[in-house]
Order: sequence, then C-alpha cells, then structure tokens
Amino acid sequence: MKIKNFYDIVVVGSGPAGGMTALTAAKNSASVLILERDREIGIPVRCAEGISLVSLSKFFEPDGKWISKYIEGAKLYAPNGESCVMVASAIGKGVILERRLFDSYICKLAAENGAEILTKADAYDLIKENGKICGVKFRHFNEERIVRTNLVIGADGPESRIGRLAGLETSLQISDIESSAQYVLADIKIEHQFSHFFFGNKIAPGGYAWVFPKGKNIANVGIGVRADKCNGKNAKEFLDEFISDKFPDAKMISFIAGCAPTGITLKKITADNIILVGDAARQVNPVSGGGLSNVLLAGKIAGEIAAEAVKKNNFSDKFLKKYHKIWMKEKGKQQKLLHKLKEIFFDFSDEELNDLTKRLNKIPKEKLTLFQLLKTAIKGYPALVRELIKAYII
Ligand SMILES: Cc1cc2nc3c(=O)[nH]c(=O)nc-3n(C[C@H](O)[C@H](O)[C@H](O)COP(=O)(O)OP(=O)(O)OC[C@H]3O[C@@H](n4cnc5c(N)ncnc54)[C@H](O)[C@@H]3O)c2cc1C
Repeated sequence: MKIKNFYDIVVVGSGPAGGMTALTAAKNSASVLILERDREIGIPVRCAEGISLVSLSKFFEPDGKWISKYIEGAKLYAPNGESCVMVASAIGKGVILERRLFDSYICKLAAENGAEILTKADAYDLIKENGKICGVKFRHFNEERIVRTNLVIGADGPESRIGRLAGLETSLQISDIESSAQYVLADIKIEHQFSHFFFGNKIAPGGYAWVFPKGKNIANVGIGVRADKCNGKNAKEFLDEFISDKFPDAKMISFIAGCAPTGITLKKITADNIILVGDAARQVNPVSGGGLSNVLLAGKIAGEIAAEAVKKNNFSDKFLKKYHKIWMKEKGKQQKLLHKLKEIFFDFSDEELNDLTKRLNKIPKEKLTLFQLLKTAIKGYPALVRELIKAYII
C-alpha cells in the first residue's frame, strides 16, 4: 500500500482515541495517516464494550450496525448475594457496542474525511533530528519504513510505547493497574436487560466482575482485579472460579486478557511535536476502568488542537498544552476525585460492601443515581462528600 512521505499528523493506534483524533483533525483539513499494528481495526477486542447512551450520543448517532444491545439498568451484587437494581430512569440507558465494528466505523469516517490508514503497521521508533520529533519508523509486514510528520499522536493504548519513546513519564503505580480477563459466553442465563456487577474481596479483590449481555443468551463476562491484592492469583483464575460458580453450563466463545490503567491523567501528555491521547494518556474513569466516553472526548479535543496547530504551523509544547488544559477542565478534575473514591471503595471489606448494598436498597429506585451511590458509599468521609457535591453541581 502506497503512502505519502509526509503527513501533517501521524496517529499511532486506531482505537477509539486514535480514530476520533484522526476523524476530528481530518474534518478540520489536516492531512492524517493512521498506523495500526494489528491486521484489522478493532480486533482483538479487549473491552467489555459498555458505554452510556448519553455519552455515546454526544459523538455519534447510535447505529444498530455497531450496537449489539441496549441496556435498561445496572444490577449490583454484594458478596453475600444481596442485589440492588439501578434503573435506567435514574442512571440512563446503556449500550453494549460491537467494538470491532465501532472502532472501524470511526476510522471509516476518518477515511471519508481524507485520513489514510495503514494496518499491520507497527510503530517501533520516532525519527528525531536535532532532538526534534519529525516522523515515525514502523514495520509494515516485514518491511522497515518511515513516514515524516510535524505531529505524532500517541493513541497506542495502555502500553504507550510512543509516550516512552518521546521521553514522557508513562509509568503506572501497581495500585493503578487493573488486570483483566474476559470470556464471551454463550448459552448463559441472566436477566439480559441489565448489566451486572459483582463485588467482593474473594470474587475480585480491588475490582469487580461483570456480565454485559450482548443478546438474550450471550454476554461479555469478565473480571478486573488489582494485582497487589491477589496473593499471586491471576485475573483468569478469579474469572474461572466466578464462572464455574455462577454459569457452570455456559459455553466459551472467546477469551481475552488485558490491563486497564485506573490512575489519573499523566502529568504531561504533550511535548514538542507530540500528543498522547486515550489509554496512552491515562484518561479512563478510575472507578469503573471504563475509558470509552472519556477517550472519545479526549480524541475530539486532541484532534481540534492538532488541526489548529497545523493551521498555525505551531507544534510547540507550549501550543499543544492547550489540549491538556481543556481536557483537565472538562474531565481531569472529576477524574482526580473519582480516583480518590476508588481508593476508598475498593478497600471496603465484604461486610462494608454488604452494608452498602443494604443502604442502597433503602433509596427509592427512581432516586438511585450514580451520584447517590457514590455519596452513600463515602458517607463516612464528609470532606469528600463536599467535593463530590461540588463536582456534580459545577
Ligand atoms: C478487559 C477490559 C474491559 C473493558 N471494558 C470497558 C467497557 O466496558 N467500557 C469502557 O468504556 N471501557 C472499557 N475498557 C477500557 C477501554 O477498552 C479503553 O479505555 C479504550 O479501548 C481505550 O481506547 P484507546 O484508543 O486509547 O486504546 P486502545 O483501544 O487500546 O487502542 C490502541 C490501539 O493502538 C494500537 N497500537 C498499539 N501499539 C501500537 C504500535 N506500536 N503501532 C501501531 N499501533 C499500535 C493497538 O493495536 C490498538 O488498536 C475495558 C478495558 C479492558 C482491558
């Protein structure tokens, strides 16, 4: 596949963050190339594919071509088995995507707006001249190739090789790494109108297990655990125990393992001629580990600033920092607060989780919002409750 020698912007990674950045920048007249390591966009899927309908609709008209199911609420399970339902009229509807089609839809839109895409293109180094980043070296099948650019976008997921190559500090604290494993299970019997969340220190230390239905009898069933709380047991072992307990007769369709960074946004997500976005910049929700709505927003902001940089021919860190500033204003502060809540919530004993569920069940269903849930969970931390109220009012 022939590509040009130079693009205004080269995006490494075709996930939702990279796709959205490329789409936005291309729409704003920048010439864009996306490099994707895998053979096909969106595969393998390392995601439970859940997103709220409200968040999704901010960016795209929901489309049955890449949505597998609409969800009418969430069911939370305490370690003692007591459950609590959060209904859609209070928390909004959810959507389970078909990520392999969704990611590729975003890239298709980017291509329709002029972006070029090269798959099976593994970016392994940055070209630097006199210390200035001015291109990307990549392996395309077995061939070593280069492409020159004024701006590299590192949208290369949690490992973020591009961030490291650019000299940005990307290391994660062990307490901010959620090791995950997930099966797609068929022939599974569950209330398929809800997404299901299971908590408990024996089930998923420092995390939770989930069941996100993709249809009547098929679901993403996964687990996220904090490695430092697991005494050497890995996420797959926890998941296998969970499944043999809850769904012994279900049939396995596929398996994936991955990691979700659940910290806060890196201190620096820009430098001269470079921007990091998405999981690479650690822009996920630290409580849920969900990144989709945040990374779509981050990609949109990054794409706008990148296109502005092209128009002004200014790729300095000083200019690109505008992206970081807007991101922090939109989501960064909320993310910091959620990170504090995560530290408290995932330290709860099983008794505290049982008690929390009991208290949640006393709240009328139509009033049980995410805000109410968090407020109830941190009742014993008045300063944080005040921060939470402020964050939700502002
Ligand atoms: C098990 C699991 C379940 C999850 N479930 C949910 C969920 O239900 N809802 C939710 O909102 N979030 C969920 N998340 C988080 C969500 O998947 C991520 O936040 C989201 O995918 C981040 O998007 P991204 O574009 O930043 O990175 P990614 O989606 O990881 O995309 C990065 C892309 O970069 C490519 N790449 C990497 N290195 C290179 C390279 N050197 N050269 C070229 N290409 C490269 C990769 O192949 C990949 O295509 C889950 C995460 C995990 C691990």
